[in-house]
Amino acid sequence: MEAVGGWCTDCGKPIRAGAVLYTAEARPVCPMCFTRADVSVRRRAVFEGWSTALIGAIANAIPLVIDAMGAWMVAPAVASAGRRDWVALVSGVVAAFCGGATVLEARSRISGRWLVIGALVALLGVYHAVRGAGLAW
Ligand SMILES: [Zn+2]
Repeated sequence: MEAVGGWCTDCGKPIRAGAVLYTAEARPVCPMCFTRADVSVRRRAVFEGWSTALIGAIANAIPLVIDAMGAWMVAPAVASAGRRDWVALVSGVVAAFCGGATVLEARSRISGRWLVIGALVALLGVYHAVRGAGLAW
């Protein structure tokens, strides 16, 4: 006979004494429900970081695509350095913001991989913004 340690607040099944686990809200749950909750939390964390990083990555890609199109259609002399590039400036600010948000999100969840991705998105965004403002290159 195994002693019952409590009842799962998620599925209502009795839990063996010693097998009781607690959620972040200190609710007793069985190991099955604990694993399921843990997985769903982790999946949501990945999705949140992923969507913010993706917006930043797209914002970073826009000036690169326009640059590539411009190099094709416009003579290189026309696209001279020092000209204010509003697309690069705005895209860069958006990308830097999204990258920063990804870094903050990753820091709160201690996710090293997303910390690196967020930092890269933010750095590339700052580069676009600086270049778009005509301050460098
Ligand atoms: Zn359960």
